[in-house]
Order: sequence, then structure tokens, then C-alpha cells
Amino acid sequence: MGAQPLVDTYQRIHDNLRISVTDRCNIRCFYCMPEREVQFIERREILTYEEMARFARIAARLGVRKIRVTGGEPLVRRDLPKFIGMLAAIGGIEDLALTTNAVLLKEMARPLRDAGLRRINVHLDTLDRSRFLELTRRDDLPRVLEGIETALAAGFDSVKLNAVAVKGVTEPDIVPIARYCRERGMEARFIEFMPLDAQAIWDRTRVLLADDILGELAAAFGPLEPIPDPDPRAPASEYRYLDGGGTVGFIASVSRPFCLNCNRIRLTADGKLRYCLFAIEETDVKGLLRAGAPDADIEATIRKTVAGKWLGHEINSAKFVPPPRPMYAIGG
Ligand code: SF4
Repeated sequence: MGAQPLVDTYQRIHDNLRISVTDRCNIRCFYCMPEREVQFIERREILTYEEMARFARIAARLGVRKIRVTGGEPLVRRDLPKFIGMLAAIGGIEDLALTTNAVLLKEMARPLRDAGLRRINVHLDTLDRSRFLELTRRDDLPRVLEGIETALAAGFDSVKLNAVAVKGVTEPDIVPIARYCRERGMEARFIEFMPLDAQAIWDRTRVLLADDILGELAAAFGPLEPIPDPDPRAPASEYRYLDGGGTVGFIASVSRPFCLNCNRIRLTADGKLRYCLFAIEETDVKGLLRAGAPDADIEATIRKTVAGKWLGHEINSAKFVPPPRPMYAIGG
């Protein structure tokens, strides 16, 4: 008989693991990283692929079925296809996805696909070159667009585009991004700006809400209708363009929190287990992995972490405290 699933005190079953393979990145999005003097994790503190794969194997025995590889920017870590291959070989893993800024995707799409990667989400907030430079402090838009085209041709199950929506900044990009995705049969995912940035620039007035964006899309492309949730635990709420232009998704953590159905846990690049993106506390598993602790000890630590999981983020309450770890060191 298989192991008991990973259930928290709110009866949420956790079968989705996000692994951050690095905190480093080759661009500098203004709402994520400072331009200079970024405090990166020391290399010797970063887990090896073997350590991460061992953790994933143990988690798979506890019911994890989906893995998403994140960063920082995962493609900057050497030999990533090798790690993808290690994850794809784990029994029970049904879905293997990755989130990238696509700057290196033209070179990496095929090797990642061949290694067993199934789905890709590309993080891109604008299609305008000067605005890309302004938002990311890097002039890499042409490479990103080439990377997306290469990935679309490489035969992944899906290639989606994640765009962070910041009020007073990215409004001009909403319709162009949606059009770009409609033309390529991709799904655009608009993400509400979250208080996870290293420079604490977030405030509620800078959040472009999902409803605001929906209004813009309907004005540009005609009516949309909500798609009944195929998997209520998936973070995005999805809509269909009634003109047949495909679907669009919203990750509305601020205006439509989805914590009641959360099924995710996260492993950071330096071996900390987090039960929530916004968690203040985290559990060290690197010490166990490096001390050669038996699998049973690591299983127990995963179970204990999930059992201690809170109901959800408190962005909308006066009690909210941003996590001490910035987004680039947690991974999406
Ligand atoms: S904020 Fe935390 S609890 Fe809520 S959905 Fe995200 S990870 Fe899950």
C-alpha cells in the first residue's frame, strides 16, 4: 500500500513540488531584484542536482506528481538538461514543467525537451524593446522572442506566457501580449503584482487587478467567458475568448486568493523547504541530505512541514509580513 498522501490540517493534499535550482538570473526585473549588489547564495550552499533529485524521489513516494523547475533563472545553471533527465526518470512524476525568462531558450529548448521536459512558462512582461530594457535593465528582447519561437517548434505539451501586471507600468503591454499569444495559440497568464520584491516597492495601489485586465481584453477582443476549473488546485483562473481566440489565465493572488486549494510545496536552491510562497518560516533539509540521513528522516521532515502549513498568505490583512526571502531566492 502506498504512503499516506501529504495532507495538511486543512485537508489540502500536496502533490506539487517546485524546485528552485538557483537564485541567480541574467536579467534584473525592477519588481524582483535590485540592479546592483544582489546578495546571492554562496555556491557551496546550493544543492547539487543529485541532492535535489534525491529529495524529489522521496517527495514522489509521498504523493508528489507534478514538479516545476524555477530559479532565479533556471537556464543559467549549468547542465540543466541533465537534471531534467533525472527528474523525468522518477517514478510517479506525471508532469514536469519549467518557468524561464527565455533569454537562453533558443539554445536550450531542444535539449530540455529531449531530456523529458513537458511544459514551459515564459516570463515576459512586454513586447516593446525599450520597455523591456526599462523593466529588466537588459536589452535581451530579441533573444527572448527567438527562444519562444524555438520552444513552440520543439513540441512541448504547452508553452504559456506569464506576464506580471503592475499598475502604472505595464498597462500598455496587456493587449499586445494577449494578441501575441492569440496569434501563436499560446495562453497568456497575467499575474497580479505580489509583495515579494527585494526592494519593498510593492503597495496595493500598484496592483493591476485581474478584473481590470479582463475589462481591457474584452474591449480589445470582445467578450470572454470563464472556463469551469478543470483542476481547482491550479493557481490560474482561466477564460475563453468567445471569438475563438483561445484562452487566457489570471494568477490573482491579491484579488482572488486561491490558498484554500493550495497543493504546493517549494524547495529552495539552498535546501530549505517552504510550505508557502509567503512563508516566514522554512525547514532546512540540506543538513539532512548532506549528513546522509535516511529517507525516513527526510520523509518525516516533509510531513511535519506540511502539517504545520498555515491557511494562506495574509496579503489582504493588516497582519501581513513579507517573507524575509526575496522572490528570486524562492522561485515562482
Ligand atoms: S500563497 Fe501560499 S498557501 Fe496561498 S496558494 Fe500560494 S503557496 Fe499556497
